[in-house]
Amino acid sequence: MADSALVVFSGGQDSTTCLAWALSRFDRVETIGFDYGQRHAVELSCRTEVLRKLRALRPDWAARLGDDATLSMDVFRQLGETALTHDIAISMNSDGLPSTFVPGRNLVFLTLAGAQAYRRGIKRLVTGVCETDFSGYPDCRDDTMKALQVALNLGMQTRFVIETPLMWLTKAATWNLAFELGGGELVDLILEETHTCYRGERGERHPWGYGCGDCPACRLRARGYEEYTRRR
Ligand code: ZN
Repeated sequence: MADSALVVFSGGQDSTTCLAWALSRFDRVETIGFDYGQRHAVELSCRTEVLRKLRALRPDWAARLGDDATLSMDVFRQLGETALTHDIAISMNSDGLPSTFVPGRNLVFLTLAGAQAYRRGIKRLVTGVCETDFSGYPDCRDDTMKALQVALNLGMQTRFVIETPLMWLTKAATWNLAFELGGGELVDLILEETHTCYRGERGERHPWGYGCGDCPACRLRARGYEEYTRRR
């Protein structure tokens, strides 16, 4: 299928926006998610609800949205501690990377997405990685994705394109992209149903959605949303 895409979909703001982006462009869109032993499975449980509500929001998207796969990846927990997989503090490591960095995560995710896309006859892999509001994750960089595209194409003898629609967008611009793709209804869906917080907090509903409001992911989401609403 020339016009098909596989979206790496976590149930967060970025990957939901990427999914809407793909649904507005390609005839057939499938999703893949990874259970990698996240401290809080909240994000994963958001996936089903986001998919359900996206289908309800737009019948044309529902017609294009195909299979969803969730792969179990608890190997990352076995490899060692990070603040996303274990109950340790969110801080800066001595190598200058945040303790939320899970080494190799996006490399493995994209490789497995490639393996799935290969089997499903899909050529485009869509991921919400972003360099602009850079959390310091080297596996989110444009060059990493370009190198990975080359490696996958060589290793699987195929012609994948890794699409990164958010790569150069600020968080405010990502909210704005959601508005352009699906209007206020899509923004509301993302506010209500997607999860970003590193701590898995979903108690309090803030203007920007649910979360602890204090971890780096919440702060980025909140700041981006404030900037987005100020400009609208
Ligand atoms: Zn948080």
